[in-house]
Amino acid sequence: MPDNRTSDYYQSLRDSMVEEQMASRGISDKRVLEAMRRVPRHLFVPGDRRGKAYDDAPLPLGEGQTISQPYMVAWMTELLGLEGDEKVLEVGTGSGYQAAILGLLARKVYSIERIEWLAEQARRRLDELGFKNIEVVVGDGSKGLKKQAPFDAIIVTAGSPGVPQALVEQLADGGRLVIPVGPSTMQMLTVITRHGAEYETDEVGSCVFVPLVGTYGWKQ
Ligand code: SAH
Repeated sequence: MPDNRTSDYYQSLRDSMVEEQMASRGISDKRVLEAMRRVPRHLFVPGDRRGKAYDDAPLPLGEGQTISQPYMVAWMTELLGLEGDEKVLEVGTGSGYQAAILGLLARKVYSIERIEWLAEQARRRLDELGFKNIEVVVGDGSKGLKKQAPFDAIIVTAGSPGVPQALVEQLADGGRLVIPVGPSTMQMLTVITRHGAEYETDEVGSCVFVPLVGTYGWKQ
């Protein structure tokens, strides 16, 4: 079915999404809110779900994977505290939507996805939208991406049974790791901040993500 809705229509849905789902729920980082207003989320969901792209909910991507609820994307992004010059790693590219948000807020984004067709589709979308600072890599992100480490920020958008040591080791000094940790039914959103040789851990709230499957995640 052709999509006859105009980009103004989607822009107004995005503006309401930011007002109703983010600003009013405590997301205050202006750069994050602006990025959420700009990225066309409807182009990252399956064609038959476009009308639901700006709803307050996660949406299926296929093969049991999901694009996170908009609020969750905004919250996790805000927790990274990006100022613009960072090198960021995302684990779990999925649709590429979170990567696009990060691409507007950081200098360079590496995003790693274990399912090849999802990675390819995300890469194509990000290219079409003109993102030049995002690299999508196929692989097991529970091991991080050693070749490009260290990272100023690492965001894991899949639920992990524990904090993968490899990811902690790939944090730059002052860097932050945001990761859902816990059983597959519900996780605790956890923020680990590196201060030299010390690591501070904060648990900020509960969440539900699809499993991180890999060497330092859940076994297949
Ligand atoms: N951030 C995505 C949503 C992620 S859903 C978005 O904005 O759309 C979680 C994704 O993590 C799925 O696509 C899943 O295939 C991927 N994943 C799970 N385990 C992984 C691993 N070990 N390495 C890389 N990707 C993984």
